[in-house]
Amino acid sequence: MMILPNAHGGFQLSDVTVQYGAVLALNRVSLSIDAGEHVAFIGPSGSGKTTLLRLLNGMVRPKNGCVMAQGKQVADLSPGHLRELRSQIGFIHQDLCLVPSLRVIRNVMSGGLSRKSLIGAVRAMICPARGESLEAHRILERVGIAEKLYERTDRLSGGQQQRVAIARALFQRPRALLADEPVSSVDPVRAHSTVSLLTRICREQLLTLCVSLHNTELARSCFQRLIGLRDGAIVFDCPSDQVGDTELNQLYRIG
Ligand code: ADP
Ligand code: MG
Repeated sequence: MMILPNAHGGFQLSDVTVQYGAVLALNRVSLSIDAGEHVAFIGPSGSGKTTLLRLLNGMVRPKNGCVMAQGKQVADLSPGHLRELRSQIGFIHQDLCLVPSLRVIRNVMSGGLSRKSLIGAVRAMICPARGESLEAHRILERVGIAEKLYERTDRLSGGQQQRVAIARALFQRPRALLADEPVSSVDPVRAHSTVSLLTRICREQLLTLCVSLHNTELARSCFQRLIGLRDGAIVFDCPSDQVGDTELNQLYRIG
C-alpha cells in the first residue's frame, strides 16, 4: 500500500474522549492514520465505531483530547473551514442518505455541492454542466452501475444503492473516504465485492480509507490494519494477520 509522505488525507487522535450526556462513547482514544492508508474499525454494536468515524470529519466534537484531520486541528477550524474540511472527506453513512425519488445521477452529483456556492449548487442541480454529467457517468462506470445513470434511485437493489452512495462520495473528489458499515444490509458475497471495489478505488486514487464493519472476516480479508473497539476503547490496533480468535474474543466476549 502506498503511504503518502504528507499530512493531507491522514488523521491523528490523541487522548480523545467523547461523551453523550452520561454515556462515554469513546474513552481516551489515540491513533494515527497515514494519508493513503486503509483501516477497518471492528467491534460490537455500541463500541464507538460510528462516533469515531464522525470525529474524523468533525461531525462529533470531543470532550477532551485533540483531533487532527488533513493536517489541521479540527477544534480550531471556523465553520467555513470545517465545511471545507468536510468537502475533502467523503462520508458514506450507514443508511446511505440517498434521496429515493431522485434519479441516480442527481444523487451522485449532490456529492459535488459542498464545493460550490449556494447559487452554483442550485444551478448545478437544475441544469448540470456537461462536464459534470460526464464525470458522474465515469464514476458510475467505475463502481459498475453506469447503465443506472437515469434510473430512479429507489428502483435499484440495496447493493446498487450502496454503489450510488460510494459514487456520490467520490464525486466530491475527496482526499479521504469514511464509510460507516457500508455493506450492512447485503449478503456476504455482495458485501465482499463492494468492499473490495471500495479498497481498489481508494488504492488507485491514493485516498485514505476508514471503514467500520461488523463482519470481521470481511474486515480481515480486505484490510491490512484492523482497529478493535470495545466500550469506547481501542482493544487492539494491528495488522489483520495478527487478529486471531484471542483478539476477537476480547472484543465480543459477553460480560
Ligand atoms: P457503534 O457504531 O459501534 O455501534 P456508536 O458510536 O454508535 O457505536 O455508539 C457508542 C456509544 O454511544 C453507545 O453506547 C451509544 O448508545 C452511544 N451513543 C451514540 N450516539 C449517541 C447519541 N446521539 N446520544 C446518546 N448516546 C449515543
Ligand atoms: Mg455504528
